[in-house]
Amino acid sequence: MTAIQRHNGLAEKVYEALLAQLMGLKIAPGARITVDNLVRELQVSHTPIREALGRLEGEGLVVKTHLIGYSAAPQISRRQFDELYELRLLLEPDSARRAAEAMTGERLEALRDLADMMSGGSDEDARRRYSAFARQDAVFHDRILEFAGNELIRHTLAHQHTHFHIFRLMFHARVTEEALTEHQALLDAFTSADGAAAKAAMHDHIARSRQRLLPAFDL
Ligand SMILES: [Zn+2]
Repeated sequence: MTAIQRHNGLAEKVYEALLAQLMGLKIAPGARITVDNLVRELQVSHTPIREALGRLEGEGLVVKTHLIGYSAAPQISRRQFDELYELRLLLEPDSARRAAEAMTGERLEALRDLADMMSGGSDEDARRRYSAFARQDAVFHDRILEFAGNELIRHTLAHQHTHFHIFRLMFHARVTEEALTEHQALLDAFTSADGAAAKAAMHDHIARSRQRLLPAFDL
């Protein structure tokens, strides 16, 4: 049991290290990822690296090609970006309304804890902080969808791994700072169980997020 736990802990650390490199664009979109290089760089065996790469493949950040091996997934296209945001704007504002209407003290506390974690940023490594923020933002939005009560909508959005793809477009502190303010507006609406305000706040958050990341396509 101890061995398995230790092993899982290592795989998690390797996963986090690779995620930070992918999200912080240290591993460029489309770049080859060589397992042997990672063995040397991270000083771990092949097993946790393959495990982490498999998980990243499931999340759409890594692509495995037969006989060639692993590479970082290409950046999403402008069309994919537009479609993702269209989907989010159709589903998330109304889900936020539903979540507000079904808000409880316990749920509110869970969302506040997540928002606090996101503003913490204790890690001094900017890339790790950025990738942690992307993951926490994914959880924050997923919990709201959970509280809204439609599992099909929740799974549809989770399956897109939206947050990884959009945050990877740009590595920039502004992306995270502005999102925190918008999350606070959402929390205020949830606190007063105001469905209309929650819907408006979520719409505003997603529309602004789109505007923040759009310049990535002009680079
Ligand atoms: Zn957000």
